[in-house]
Amino acid sequence: MKFDTAYSLSLDDKLSIYDVRDLNFDETTAFDSDKDSFLCPNDECRAAFAASNVLTTFNAKNVNYQRTPHFKNTPSTRHINGCRYASHKAGASETEDEREESFPSEFILTRRQYERSTPEPGSDGIAPQDPPKTPSSRSHASHSSSDTTPDKTSVFAHPVECYVSNIDDKDKLKGMPLKIGETAATYWTFFKKVEYLQDNKGLIYWGRIKEIKDYTNSFRIDFEKKVWLDKKPYSVNVYLNKKLIENYRKRKVFLEQIKAAVDSERPLYCFFYGVTPALKQVPSKKNPEQTFGVFSADIENLDHLIIREAPGLET
Ligand SMILES: [Zn+2]
Repeated sequence: MKFDTAYSLSLDDKLSIYDVRDLNFDETTAFDSDKDSFLCPNDECRAAFAASNVLTTFNAKNVNYQRTPHFKNTPSTRHINGCRYASHKAGASETEDEREESFPSEFILTRRQYERSTPEPGSDGIAPQDPPKTPSSRSHASHSSSDTTPDKTSVFAHPVECYVSNIDDKDKLKGMPLKIGETAATYWTFFKKVEYLQDNKGLIYWGRIKEIKDYTNSFRIDFEKKVWLDKKPYSVNVYLNKKLIENYRKRKVFLEQIKAAVDSERPLYCFFYGVTPALKQVPSKKNPEQTFGVFSADIENLDHLIIREAPGLET
């Protein structure tokens, strides 16, 4: 049984596995999922057991994952009768792990804020023998939605994983709603191959990476496919300013990832949101008197850019 969300004991809140990954790599927070305890997101179920009745994580820290991250039961995890997270398929095959089934209906552009619960004075954190918390009246009031899939996410990797892992099921992607800012569409229409970026502005653009150039002040990601305009092909690229990376809260993991990508021989894909590459005239290297056209954009928010492997995306 795969969990779309779990209750974090240290944050006293329900998180998606993408929230957990984001927190793990964030150098401005002390969060470490290996030191946290994740419990059943069903409030009634959680209240019925001790805090030692934990779930485990899959791909919570793996920088370059291929299989969908998630929470799952340990062999000893127990649930109350009727809990939707009780495993009804004992020994279910690994294939159920291979796609993201919880589709957030909205991608929020501002980061989620967490209010860390302060430990009791004199105790170092939460003792495992603490009595389980009983659901508060507040969480009872919103119970119908609170133990199910979080409907919104601010972690870009989540909608991207929905798209990538379900790429073989176009009907599903066409049926799943996605809202970003004021724009409401479906997963299928929100994700746009870079070669078709002229179709519409403000979408999530993606494409296979041809090359990543490491310059003094920036990285440039070149896409394999070209944009056609007036029967002429134009290259597409995005620039990542190194100052932006230096100030990024996930700087370490981002640098590790992009440096590995520069030298990678494996097919890599780039997804980005927030900017739409536009036609620009740039001077030719060989002959600076001449210019040539290229569709280019400067990435403004590294939270809204992903470089990853995506098997099955273009078969
Ligand atoms: Zn449960």
